[in-house]
Amino acid sequence: MSRQHKAHEPYDLPDGTRVLDWSDSSHYCPTSGPCRYCGNGTILRDSAGRASHKVCAEKNGGV
Ligand SMILES: [Zn+2]
Repeated sequence: MSRQHKAHEPYDLPDGTRVLDWSDSSHYCPTSGPCRYCGNGTILRDSAGRASHKVCAEKNGGV
């Protein structure tokens, strides 16, 4: 069983769970900002550069 999705592209598990690949350094910022979904501080950034927890983005169809 090999991974079929392209690197750094989000994909969906058979049960509908979205999985994001945020292993790239562009998803990390040295300064904390408020998560666009839950408002708590995070150093993570989504693919558009907005502060966001990975789990929050996955739960809310983020990128
Ligand atoms: Zn969050």
